[in-house]
Amino acid sequence: MSDKPKIAMYWASSCGGCEIALVNLHEKILDVDAAFNLFFCPCLVDTKTKDIEALADGELAITFFNGAIRTDENLEMARLLRKKSQILIAFGSCAVEGCIPALGNLVPAAKYFDPIYRDNLTTANPDNIIPLNKSEIAEGSLGIPLFLKKVRTLGQVTEVDYFLPGCPPEPHRIWQAVAALIAPDGPPPKGSVVGVGPSTVCAECRRERTDKKIRRFFRTYEIIPNQTECLLDQGILCMGIATREGCGGLCPEVNMPCTGCYGPPAGRLDQGARMTAAIGSILDLGEVKGLGEKELHGRIDQALGAIPDYAGTFYKYSLAGSILGGREKL
Ligand code: SF4
Ligand code: SF4
Repeated sequence: MSDKPKIAMYWASSCGGCEIALVNLHEKILDVDAAFNLFFCPCLVDTKTKDIEALADGELAITFFNGAIRTDENLEMARLLRKKSQILIAFGSCAVEGCIPALGNLVPAAKYFDPIYRDNLTTANPDNIIPLNKSEIAEGSLGIPLFLKKVRTLGQVTEVDYFLPGCPPEPHRIWQAVAALIAPDGPPPKGSVVGVGPSTVCAECRRERTDKKIRRFFRTYEIIPNQTECLLDQGILCMGIATREGCGGLCPEVNMPCTGCYGPPAGRLDQGARMTAAIGSILDLGEVKGLGEKELHGRIDQALGAIPDYAGTFYKYSLAGSILGGREKL
């Protein structure tokens, strides 16, 4: 049995991208293996929940927890791993802020299953059956995890020591965060956001910026932006201005707008509110003096017409962790 410190990587409601990001450490994964015993990781190692339950409290040196808290099983595992870990890291956007699973908070819980099992042209479901938490069949009782009424971040259900954002976190940032945790001069203060920079994606982006005045936005398929000017200056909705520095400006580097996966910048609670304020300050509606309310709204609608889904655009990654949070009740 290895006497190296045990670590765990768990996935709650997530897509598996965070595990791929870990594997993308490439040869550095050998350094992780040299320093730690990867004791629990459902997609790589065949240990079970009962093996975690059998550990002493705090026996896991570090747990990297990715995924949002969507089901009662996610909640149970979050609490169990908290108890068994000296250091619990919210790893990736879903654990830090809810990410895509948290967009479910925009609809009432009773409607979650409708697009899949009811209002779906390719699904025949004449008896209107939806998955149940418990089902009795001839052979006995069957159970599947219960969908909670609201998606929560890891930090909203248990105490978290460090936050490592990104969808997924960039591998070199993961390594930077691990190195900081095992550094001889001690780890960063508890509660820190690790593997990020102090500013926004704009600080990492090499595009030229001007004083912005935007008459209208374009969908990405409507124009081919040039490679040198700020995308926002060209009318492409780029969230870099409201997103934490960390990825190196990957998306604008390849002519794609930042969609905000590193979450709000340091000191900002609400990424969507920050982006909305930024847009309000750069929108050029032309001469508005003397316009009636209806005409003014018309100008705003025209300028913003290329943003089809405000909540899904501005809160794509951060709804659960935002001030807005999403709905809780039926
Ligand atoms: S808004 Fe986007 S394109 Fe413009 S500087 Fe910021 S990250 Fe770069
Ligand atoms: S540019 Fe934005 S969306 Fe793209 S990886 Fe960086 S933070 Fe994420």
